[in-house]
Amino acid sequence: MKNNMNWNFDNSYSRLSDVFKEHIEPIAVKNPELVLMNKDLVEELNLDFSKIDKNELAALFTGNILPEGSNAIAQAYAGHQFGHFTMLGDGRAVLIGEHLTKNNERYDIQFKGSGKTAFSRNGDGRAALGPMLREYIISEAMYHLNIPSTRSLAVAKTGEEIMRETPLQGAILTRVASSHIRVGTFQYVAARDKKDELEILLNYVIKRHYPKLINSNNKALDLLNVLIDKQIDLVVNWMRVGFIHGVMNTDNMTISGETIDYGPCAFMDTYDPKTVFSSIDKVGRYAYCNQPAITKWNLSRFAECLIPLIDEDEDKAVKSATEIIETFGKKYEEKWLKMMRTKLGLLGEDNKDKFLIVDLLTWMHQNKVDYTNTFCHLMSIKVDQNEKFEDINFQNWKKRWQERLKINKSTKEKNIKLMKSVNPLVIPRNHKVEEALEISERGDFKYVDQLMEVLKKPYSQQKNILEYQIPSNFNKNYQTFCGT
Ligand code: AMP
Ligand code: MG
Repeated sequence: MKNNMNWNFDNSYSRLSDVFKEHIEPIAVKNPELVLMNKDLVEELNLDFSKIDKNELAALFTGNILPEGSNAIAQAYAGHQFGHFTMLGDGRAVLIGEHLTKNNERYDIQFKGSGKTAFSRNGDGRAALGPMLREYIISEAMYHLNIPSTRSLAVAKTGEEIMRETPLQGAILTRVASSHIRVGTFQYVAARDKKDELEILLNYVIKRHYPKLINSNNKALDLLNVLIDKQIDLVVNWMRVGFIHGVMNTDNMTISGETIDYGPCAFMDTYDPKTVFSSIDKVGRYAYCNQPAITKWNLSRFAECLIPLIDEDEDKAVKSATEIIETFGKKYEEKWLKMMRTKLGLLGEDNKDKFLIVDLLTWMHQNKVDYTNTFCHLMSIKVDQNEKFEDINFQNWKKRWQERLKINKSTKEKNIKLMKSVNPLVIPRNHKVEEALEISERGDFKYVDQLMEVLKKPYSQQKNILEYQIPSNFNKNYQTFCGT
């Protein structure tokens, strides 16, 4: 292509040794058609597609044409899936390159659903339209909820059918991430048992994501420490908005601290800590309330990879890593409490705060009340289920809360302002997401556009959003599928 649309590639990962990846281009598709493009993100990345036509755009976002400077690879990684270790890798994705913005910010540009690679195992390397749109919607919603996340630049149909339980329309998602390096990437390299390879990966990650650690005396240990903080911040954010990832396997946990891989994820409506949506999560391993514990479990797997780099003496290395991992519980508790205090507009600390918070959650659980809308109610925003809030137990709790607010020594306006900064008025409700997907599959993308407009401003009062705020009975038996 003559016009390079401002792509500015510098493909540092593809310059690493072939141990870490396979060079492979996307497999061409029959009849490409662009169906969604994220104009805000196009601008943020300083890209410019104004001078190319529809057909070229479609060819570009399916990988039928690769922009100049790209260098496509499939990345190698391993992972614990539901507790079992497996060698994986990008089985249906290719990283076409790392794009640098004008401010020198580096982003991976990846096509998901782009065809077979060396890591496809028995898969066809393809993805279906529904799940790719779903990732687009939820990842962008997460970003607008101020939660670190990979982002979605475009969805294009391939014009090919893919076979699942029924034939489905094929599609490719263009994913943008600060990198796709995962805990599983370290697991893959560690399993090869070559210390020099592990060291290359560690140094690469530090240079790319945590340059402050470049002169550290023990880079591996310090990286572990930093990642614990990052991942705690992430999971606390998930708990804040009621997000359930659904497949927290170690290959779906990034080193950058961004949420990645929106498969069977969903938002909880009625508060129930045991909520699980994923059809494959039979025992609730990745239930809402288990997410912190699983984060710690995954970080322990990460720590194991780093042992050879922490200390020559293995016993010493294990001791140091264990000490750091054991800080998880206290750190999580502190950050979670801080987050919940903010949701309730509480400033400062009172030693009864935890009881106040837990009592509210218990009341929500026992009375099957919507999580998001309870906080709306406390911010005096009327949504629904108002009769539930007349319950005497809730009224008594509210009195305790109001007493506690008095020690804030702040104004009501300030308390509410604080609450409004963390309590969304809208989340991607499962029935609204499903509705938008169903209609899109028939070729009408209007509902996705409308939904995205609302989800872009989750903390603001917007006109006519009640239909996006009301939970539906739909959730009772709601299940999400991996879409593989
Ligand atoms: P995911 O559930 O998307 O996190 O994928 C887990 C692993 O399975 C990754 O290694 C994927 O690349 C691989 N995978 C998922 N779907 C397919 C597919 N249709 N073809 C080949 N590999 C796949
Ligand atoms: Mg994955």
